[in-house]
Amino acid sequence: MEICLIAAEGARYHGSDARLGKPLFPPLGLMTVAGLTPEEHNVTIIDESVEAADLSIEPDVIGLTAMTAAAPRAYQLADEYRARGVPVVMGGMHASALPAEALDHVDTVLVGEAEGKWRRLLDDFAAGDMRRVYRSNDFPSAASIPPARRDLVDIDLYTAKHVMQATRGCPFACSFCTVSTFFGRALRTRPIDHVLAEAEQIDGEPIALVDDNIMGHPEYAREFFSAWADTGKSFWSQASTTMLETPELIAKAADAGCKALFVGFESISQIQLERIGKRFNPIEKYEELVKRLHDAGIAVIGSFMFGLDGDDEDVFERTADFAEDAEIDIGQFSIITPLPGTRFYRELEQEGRITVRDWNRYNGSQVTFEPIGMSAETLENGLQWIYERFYSWRSIVRRVGKRITPLVWMANAIYSKRVSRWLAEIREHPAG
Ligand code: SF4
Repeated sequence: MEICLIAAEGARYHGSDARLGKPLFPPLGLMTVAGLTPEEHNVTIIDESVEAADLSIEPDVIGLTAMTAAAPRAYQLADEYRARGVPVVMGGMHASALPAEALDHVDTVLVGEAEGKWRRLLDDFAAGDMRRVYRSNDFPSAASIPPARRDLVDIDLYTAKHVMQATRGCPFACSFCTVSTFFGRALRTRPIDHVLAEAEQIDGEPIALVDDNIMGHPEYAREFFSAWADTGKSFWSQASTTMLETPELIAKAADAGCKALFVGFESISQIQLERIGKRFNPIEKYEELVKRLHDAGIAVIGSFMFGLDGDDEDVFERTADFAEDAEIDIGQFSIITPLPGTRFYRELEQEGRITVRDWNRYNGSQVTFEPIGMSAETLENGLQWIYERFYSWRSIVRRVGKRITPLVWMANAIYSKRVSRWLAEIREHPAG
């Protein structure tokens, strides 16, 4: 059977649009689905963040995935392929959150993680008996995650070429985040020998461990970092601020080769954090956390969100001041977005505050709901303002000037260029 897996590309977004620079990650989800596919089938992958899907192809089946901002494009592709008689299956977070909507465009929706039902779906398809919906009743064991099929993508087209996963899920349930809905709150860990075997196959470093919370299961993390150290490969990953409670894990991560951690600070107001279910973030210890990571030789990629209830027009400047004082190495800023499937979406829906139904705009850079405390226009302008300030050379020197870390300097240079292009494009096409 010929199976073509396609990651649809969403509307313009500073982090993923190939026109603004290389996309960050290869499509790990599809590479994993390919790894799950029995060898008798021939699989190809098209990632639209690097190449547009070819509408003239006629495989036996198309497997689509899309984040919310890319859902309209995925539906457009599905309509086109089905019009040509090619069956289309869709999975991923958006289709899992809104299967009925997806079924208006595709033959079948796979709800939840592919490990649960993909093989069964293929068997049914081969037997001419594919159902409309496949849904796992529980979260599949992380031991069933196969090595990703790296041979199906050109990793040189991506900024972070080497990507894999050791755990899935997060013990927390922040209201805006899709992770605990899609992957669950019980953090599932891959057997360490599986992870190391996959890492061995990767020819290069650093490896991005795109786990939702690499230290979310401290016992596993302890064992994992000790074992990973033997690979000799550097890595970067994501962890919650709760790592402050386990400083020995920070040291172990550094010894194992950790070069950077993505940390969701989200807000510098405790009240706002409580509103989004992230009260465990200790604002008074943010700077201490950054310093600890820096002392361990780990760079900090800090994530901040705007438009939270209680944010006012000054929040951008306060956040920029904090991020510069704390010497955050890389900043990722976004407008809080009510993604389908999240508690934040349900809350805004109940309050009648969702103002935009065009999924294209659910990209973290555009406002999709009625904010409190400032207008939608001020919110979007504020996001652009903080990006421009944070990636100005004055700010870069202030934040990372004291530390000679070529990777961090390079990352800032890349971001600075992307932000300039992004802002130029927005100013040229303001409605985009
Ligand atoms: S800690 Fe991070 S990954 Fe976990 S639920 Fe909150 S935002 Fe999501």
